[in-house]
Amino acid sequence: MSQLASAQLMDGRHKYTRADSLRGALTPLRTCYDLNYYHLDVKVDIDNKFISGSNEFRFTATRAFDQLQFDLFSNLKIEKVVYMGAEIPFKREFNAVFLTFPTAIKKGSQSSFRVFYSGNPVIAKRPPWDGGFIFSKDRSGNPWVSVACQGFGASSWWPNKDHQSDEVDSMMISISVPKGLQDVSNGRLRNVVEKPEGYTQYNWFVSNPINNYNVTLYIGKYAHWKDQYKGEKGNLSLDFWALKEDSTQARPHWNADVKPMLKSFEHWFGPYPFYEDGYKLVQAPHLGMEHQSAVAYGNQFKKGYLGRDLSGSGWGLKFDFITVHESGHEWFGNNITSKDIADMWIHESFTNYSEALFIESLYGKKAANEYVIGIRQNIANDIPIIGDYNVNSEGSGDMYYKGANMIHNIRQLINNDEKFRRILRGLNKTFYHQTVTTKQIEDYIIKESGLKLQPLFDEYLRTTKVPDFIKTK
Ligand SMILES: [Zn+2]
Repeated sequence: MSQLASAQLMDGRHKYTRADSLRGALTPLRTCYDLNYYHLDVKVDIDNKFISGSNEFRFTATRAFDQLQFDLFSNLKIEKVVYMGAEIPFKREFNAVFLTFPTAIKKGSQSSFRVFYSGNPVIAKRPPWDGGFIFSKDRSGNPWVSVACQGFGASSWWPNKDHQSDEVDSMMISISVPKGLQDVSNGRLRNVVEKPEGYTQYNWFVSNPINNYNVTLYIGKYAHWKDQYKGEKGNLSLDFWALKEDSTQARPHWNADVKPMLKSFEHWFGPYPFYEDGYKLVQAPHLGMEHQSAVAYGNQFKKGYLGRDLSGSGWGLKFDFITVHESGHEWFGNNITSKDIADMWIHESFTNYSEALFIESLYGKKAANEYVIGIRQNIANDIPIIGDYNVNSEGSGDMYYKGANMIHNIRQLINNDEKFRRILRGLNKTFYHQTVTTKQIEDYIIKESGLKLQPLFDEYLRTTKVPDFIKTK
């Protein structure tokens, strides 16, 4: 997601409850199964702000078990859970659901079950920061619906194993919407099916691993156009979805940033990580979110962050902050995902720094340095950047500006831009489509740089101190 109001989410260091542990901890009831595939099939009744449908879980058993946990917010009703053609019993505790299978599932075997559910999902009060559904209207009065749930949880609107450590390998997203409206979701549109009662179903297939909070829908009266980018892995399809009423404004505005940005990011980070699913930019009724292969855009077609320069250096007004920041997450956040959201700096610090690298590609190193120095004014040094583990808690919003400055600091210590670039590309290659811990990222950078960076990581990520000069050789 994007910065500033993100501090709202970061109310860490409070007393954690059993509900927090059920959500944030990797218990045996969650590690006993490794997800392979979801088929989410949801009908959105916009008039009643009501959703109904099912999600199929396909998984491989990592050990023998007869019980597992998945997650669904308690305000949503579970109608039934079907396993091998029959209903099986479940128990609920807060937002966790415990399933009991009639016989033990063997270690190494593949199996599946389907959860049928319905209800009124939580409506976001201040999307994208507090999470939930957004039922709004475009200026012409047409419905315009979306969802943003980072941190809050994908289980606020669909049943899943709501922990970042486990991603499906692929996923089908079937969204039924009132006839006349379009749904845009992640991946590629496979087909469109007319359904009873005046609904149209859009079937989107994601052929890469995807984390839960990235799974999304955008429903509205959209205009669509295509383009192509010749990138490091060949032709990358670009699909643009703007509201019909905004498409004339959107086209030149998005054009200005998207190809130069992809060129810059591929240079610094390596190939776009989801060629098979394409790159999409979709106008959303909230500021923005890094929804994988379907980036949410709500920056009002302005430069900067809603027209503001977060760095105060002038360079922040040279590009659309939301297009660039949220797309940067395709590498850090979506390609490389933190296992625990306490380690969200892996998403935000590198993505914040991607803004500077984009400036560097276009305007040179001096401009990028001014940008990085400029964003320091936003550092709070309030709580550590790494949050508390196993309780679904993010650390300080300093994961953005202070985190970017940490990477900048490391770059100065490496003092070799090609080597620094190799490390950034190496991270995206080594941890391609993986979920990781802070330690894995630290160890990789320490090893590849040959510098003793552990004290520097500790100081930046685990304390609120203003960093000292640290000996790294
Ligand atoms: Zn972000």
